[in-house]
Amino acid sequence: MNEDSITSKAREIIDKRIPFHKIEDYFNVDSNEATLIRIRALELMRGKELNSLRRFNIDMNYANNRNIENPVGTIELPIGYAGDILVNNESYSVFLATTEGRLTAGVSRGIKAINASGGVRAAIVDDGMTRDILIEFDSVLDSLKARELLERDNVKSKLIDAFNSTTSHGGLIDIHGFLIARQMHLRFKAFTGAAMGMNMVTIGAKEAAERFIEILQSNGIEARILSESGNMDTDKKPAAIDYILGRGVSVIAESLVSYEALRDILKVSEPKNIEKLNIAKNYLGSAYAGSHGFNAHVANILAAMFIAHGQDAAQIVEGSQAFTYIENIDDKNLLYISVTINSLEVGTIGGGTGLPKQKELLSYNNLYGIEDKEGVTRKRFAMLVAAVALAGELNLLAIQEELKLSHSHKTIKRDVK
Ligand code: NAP
Repeated sequence: MNEDSITSKAREIIDKRIPFHKIEDYFNVDSNEATLIRIRALELMRGKELNSLRRFNIDMNYANNRNIENPVGTIELPIGYAGDILVNNESYSVFLATTEGRLTAGVSRGIKAINASGGVRAAIVDDGMTRDILIEFDSVLDSLKARELLERDNVKSKLIDAFNSTTSHGGLIDIHGFLIARQMHLRFKAFTGAAMGMNMVTIGAKEAAERFIEILQSNGIEARILSESGNMDTDKKPAAIDYILGRGVSVIAESLVSYEALRDILKVSEPKNIEKLNIAKNYLGSAYAGSHGFNAHVANILAAMFIAHGQDAAQIVEGSQAFTYIENIDDKNLLYISVTINSLEVGTIGGGTGLPKQKELLSYNNLYGIEDKEGVTRKRFAMLVAAVALAGELNLLAIQEELKLSHSHKTIKRDVK
């Protein structure tokens, strides 16, 4: 399509008030061509140029209606390479998509110190994506009877069958009924293969909840679904339930950092000060502020890794509720550091992981999950994210121990254009 044809089609869209999402069908064009028409229409509507939007390198025939609606281009972010990190004796390359100057350099310094000390050990301590279906009853007594039924093995197994009939990769692990007023929050927790699983679990939970209502009715209890998402999941909002009961992957990464690495790489003069700083800042400071994040900046690493690897960026909220723990082991010249993230919602298939660059970066570390029914790549990716978060924590605390944070940021190019 040449420029004239794009412009005349864009004018027709505006004049005839054709909805943007109908452009493909209206002109019988593909989504890449439709994207150019939408961009031109936007330019004409406000008389402003959108030249950089025209240069997109995602195939919109793939992304449209899978990752985006009404596509009008892509946003580019720089991706930094922060080095290779050793996690459970395996080496992974670390890619961060960010616009925050000094983040990649800082994480890279942390990785260097950790690798020099033998790397990171990481373990998955729980796994399961959750969805809450909210059910309403006529009375609290009915809700109580319903919960008694829910706890029966023969009822649970029927709900498991209903859930599992909707997916060939996932499987229901457990259901908890939380009572409030005359309502019950049914919190479903499911294994999701290599997928983060939010769509998968939403579909399965709805099927199981409908089956539950049939079972209740056959026991003389009336109930109805009030919401397919009752907020006890909890998705994309800070919530203690996620880091207490777990959501997605619950992962703990730890490392024993040598005093030598602290001194030579991170320029730390007094390792015991890092232990004290961690308590004062990440625990006292966070408690005083009413924060759910007992860490220095785990969200930074999550955001940069989520974006680079096609994760759902809004779920950084839950993952950022992480605990950084530090213990100075004076007699061994070691600093123990760990990061616990109990609600790390990641996937290596589905969502944004199939977009070309995101898929390429996952594949570079053999973490693309297309063949992975057991969720091994997803769990490995979660351990990698936690390990990099640990490197970020160590570096930032080391910088703050030396009161060099503002100095480090002063060296960033700050000429705003
Ligand atoms: P998805 O993009 O819906 O893809 C997951 C599906 O891929 C699975 O259901 C499965 O099909 C299939 N699949 C193929 N190979 C697989 C494998 N090896 N392991 C697991 N599944 C495999 O992804 P999702 O993880 O369920 O959901 C993530 C998406 O949900 C993201 O785009 C996110 O932004 C969005 N999201 C949705 C909600 C919501 O409320 N619905 C909330 C937050 C985020 P079968 O199940 O048929 O086997």
